[in-house]
Amino acid sequence: MSKIKISELFYSIQGEGRYMGVPSVFLRTFGCNFTCDGFGMPRGEQSKERDFIAADIKKFFKYEDLPLVSSGCDSYASWDPRFKDLSPMLTSEAIVDRIMEIIPHNEWKDEHLVITGGEPLLGWQRAYPDLLDHPKMAGLKEITFETNGTQKIDPAFKEYLIDNHWTYGCEQKELTFSVSAKLPASGEKWEDAILPEVVCEYEQIGTAYLKFVVATEDDITDAERAVEEFRTAGFRGHIYLMPVGGVESVYTLNAKNVALAAMKRGWRYSDRLQVPLFKNEWGT
Ligand code: SF4
Repeated sequence: MSKIKISELFYSIQGEGRYMGVPSVFLRTFGCNFTCDGFGMPRGEQSKERDFIAADIKKFFKYEDLPLVSSGCDSYASWDPRFKDLSPMLTSEAIVDRIMEIIPHNEWKDEHLVITGGEPLLGWQRAYPDLLDHPKMAGLKEITFETNGTQKIDPAFKEYLIDNHWTYGCEQKELTFSVSAKLPASGEKWEDAILPEVVCEYEQIGTAYLKFVVATEDDITDAERAVEEFRTAGFRGHIYLMPVGGVESVYTLNAKNVALAAMKRGWRYSDRLQVPLFKNEWGT
């Protein structure tokens, strides 16, 4: 039986993107190919917040006890190896049992599954078929992968998605790739983060859209440049702008400006409902 290292598994409202407001199970896998230490920092500077937290690691027994951060990746503990012991390796059976416990009717009704991270399209792609084939997952009709858009779909997983009618245009099932491509504000390099050919392949399988996290005019200019590259490569999906800010003070500062910038370009605005509703606490 396949196992997946799980950082968080919880039930909440999807706060971002296409499924904003939809009751959702969030499966947060461990591991990421990026660090995104530039978020919330002046250009060229790196956040040190998680270093301070890691120095105190002995104080934290549970993932939910970890402090929230106002700069860098807000889900740092889902990939930084210093926090790996807070994320258990679970069998598909154990994951499904936990999902059945947390959804309201103990079976899938109208809930949607969000597979997030970290980066959920790393090696775990090999484990998803075993999870999705579990008999108690049969009622699931909508899945979103929240990805940074750098990982190709493994050919065996692609074949599985096609054979099991998860691909675009199949009735009743809907597969979405919510692609948060990382702009320079994240601290990642353009050539590592903006990979249109990878994202165009997602579009052959499911519905894909791009979601750029922005705070400044420079970020929006970077988003325009990225969109041009994606469109040139043939990407057809929607574009969203989303305000930076895992903590309310930062989020509130730029949400309206980001909405106006999206409107001006005919792009969509994505909120982060988990920030005003739940203060972005772990498990939301
Ligand atoms: S890609 Fe996402 S999960 Fe990975 S470090 Fe960046 S913000 Fe965090």
